[in-house]
Amino acid sequence: ATMPPLLSAIANAGRHGVLVKSAVVMERLGDTDRVALDKTGTLTEGAPRLVAVHPHDGWDADEVLRLAAGAEHLSEHPLAGAVVAGARDRGIAVPTAADFRAEPGRGVAATVDGRRVEATRPERSRDSGHTAVVVAVDGTEVGVLEIADRLRPDAAAAVGALRHLTGSEPVLLTGDNERAAARVAAEVGIGDVRAGLLPPDKVAAVRDGRTMALGDGVNDAPALAAAHCGVAMGRAGADLTLRAADVVVVRDELAAVPKVVDLSRRARRLVK
Ligand code: ADP
Ligand code: MG
Repeated sequence: ATMPPLLSAIANAGRHGVLVKSAVVMERLGDTDRVALDKTGTLTEGAPRLVAVHPHDGWDADEVLRLAAGAEHLSEHPLAGAVVAGARDRGIAVPTAADFRAEPGRGVAATVDGRRVEATRPERSRDSGHTAVVVAVDGTEVGVLEIADRLRPDAAAAVGALRHLTGSEPVLLTGDNERAAARVAAEVGIGDVRAGLLPPDKVAAVRDGRTMALGDGVNDAPALAAAHCGVAMGRAGADLTLRAADVVVVRDELAAVPKVVDLSRRARRLVK
């Protein structure tokens, strides 16, 4: 006997390195009419690097970075990894911290050397088009860290294929600033950009229509769960995100996503 089309499609998806969690999901992938993608870790590699430290007047760059790294070393966010690695690369000993608090989509705060240190997203966009982290000590801004992440090599091709398959413009959803979002959108050719979003805003944005949401981080889990179909980039994905997703891209290639949508379309034509 021949295999049921949906089962055969699931097996095929597996060969492309994509885990489709159920037959219902396999079928649903093909009637997606809109795609929403997270920026950091989804369109970009999710391995950000610290590229510059801009201290405010009266502050030393290494001291700004040292305090920020102290607060960030307790965070699991990829940006936190960039700050801590950036400090270590400059030979800075990362101090311990207490009373750590993380606010999803916004940043972190902790007490370092008796001072309250915050590392958070900026109020306004920065000119560089990079991600900016504002560092404050005891409520006063002391500097800005500039962080860059490389685009995934297959991001533009995957976005193009998803636009073609769904017949609608993909949308970029990010908590990052507008300039940084616009820069990535231009590089991958996305015309619809929503920047400065908090996790609940991402949830609201994927409730429209039959949206497939692609994300990677812990912050993306609610949006993946709320979407018609939630797809997690697996390698960087937190357990929470993998659990919330309907589909996991195990092999970490964005280009596999349109391939699996196409497999779903083919299977649907055969399903009785
Ligand atoms: P994205 O939507 O790009 O995946 P997030 O929702 O995780 O990003 O975060 C949105 C913004 O919040 C980041 O661009 C950054 O400015 C800020 N942010 C989040 N977590 C941290 C952190 N640990 N340290 C500094 N800034 C952070
Ligand atoms: Mg992300």
